[in-house]
Amino acid sequence: MTDRCLKCGSEMSPYDYTCKVCGENDRDEYRMIRNYVRSFPNSNAMQIANATGISVSKILRYIKNGSLTVVDNQSRRGR
Ligand SMILES: [Zn+2]
Repeated sequence: MTDRCLKCGSEMSPYDYTCKVCGENDRDEYRMIRNYVRSFPNSNAMQIANATGISVSKILRYIKNGSLTVVDNQSRRGR
């Protein structure tokens, strides 16, 4: 049984969840997100998505993984 990349369908190691090529793309996206968060530390996932062109769900996944720390400005901003 061969595992296939969830994104492009090419064969890959059964322990990863995307192949190496897609993993590299993910890393680029992660870098973009991180750079944006560094410049605009109070941004939320929606703003990051608009600025980077990366989907909100992906950004949320990075945040959930703990690889990104983004301020939840809904709870921070007392109106
Ligand atoms: Zn792939």
